[in-house]
Amino acid sequence: MIKIAFFDTKEYDKKLFDEYNQKYGYDITYFESKLNKETAPLSRGFDVVCIFVNDVVDSDTIKILKQCNVKLIALRCAGFNNIDMKNMNNSIKVVRVPAYSPYAVAEHAVALLLSIDRKIYKAYQRTKKYNFTLNGLLGFDINGKTVGVIGTGKIGKVFIKIMKGFGANVIAYDVYKDEENAKELGYKYVDLDELYKNSDIISLHCPLTEDTYKLINEDSISKMKDGVVIINTSRGKLIDTDSLINKLEEGKIGGLGLDVYEDEEEFFLNDMSNSYIRDKDLSILLSMPNVVITSHQAFFTKEALNKIASDTFENIKDIFETGTCVNEVK
Ligand code: NAD
Repeated sequence: MIKIAFFDTKEYDKKLFDEYNQKYGYDITYFESKLNKETAPLSRGFDVVCIFVNDVVDSDTIKILKQCNVKLIALRCAGFNNIDMKNMNNSIKVVRVPAYSPYAVAEHAVALLLSIDRKIYKAYQRTKKYNFTLNGLLGFDINGKTVGVIGTGKIGKVFIKIMKGFGANVIAYDVYKDEENAKELGYKYVDLDELYKNSDIISLHCPLTEDTYKLINEDSISKMKDGVVIINTSRGKLIDTDSLINKLEEGKIGGLGLDVYEDEEEFFLNDMSNSYIRDKDLSILLSMPNVVITSHQAFFTKEALNKIASDTFENIKDIFETGTCVNEVK
């Protein structure tokens, strides 16, 4: 029987994967801890390690996984920037779930945008206390604004479609242009400088790579419109946090919606409310009145979780039955 070690397991993962496992009958052990070089020895005796976005598979972790004879790393997410693929040398196979629900993430980006624009978080707290005033809640119409989208893959395309529904003018940047889709949805590809210069709202939907690491920095933010709203549901390290804080303090950035954060690994998805461990930059961002932060929850819909569970188990089945899988990361 195939033995799977689940890392970074939450209650909802256990419930869902146990339910799906009735069809597959894998031997699963759930660990709450994240996979990293310290916890990697726990994988001894397992064929598969199943991991999520904030597990760290660096060269040291890979060495230990190899010693423990792990044959497969099954990512229960799309991004694989947390695995040092260069050091893998094909000795352990890696599979992922490339698409579980682009709607979940795109719709969450819109939720962040509307929360910031219409100050829903402030209004909610006020009305809860029977304060029905409107002072400080002034928003703007998205209709007629220019929205810049960086990365027009599965999620970017859904986000664009929603923005077009709002009546926004959409411009986009991608290293691979899908001109047919641009024509169909009615948006225009531009270069990055033009996108920065003309966008009232910028939403990030590209992966984290060497090219996109800290794409949003002091220099790129200076090229943006005054009062720009930035939304990031992709990966925290696409943005240089120090520059972000400086530009928020200067008023250059008018609003910020983050579902991901540069150094989220230690904090996001954990209850840190009783802890004295604090990240100074995160504390500054959380204290700002025009910043809304959610904790990597964009993927968290029923539809997406069900797809993650079924595809993860299918990926594992494919590798062990046929030696290959369409969702293998090479
Ligand atoms: P995708 O692969 O379908 O699309 C990514 C797009 O980015 C592609 O069109 C690609 O050409 C483009 N791209 C690559 N390098 C680029 C660059 N240097 N500049 C501009 N564009 C570039 O991926 P997707 O499913 O749309 O997901 C996008 C990202 O969303 C993922 O990489 C992941 O980081 C993030 N994500 C976040 C969550 C969450 O819960 N917050 C969930 C799923 C995915």
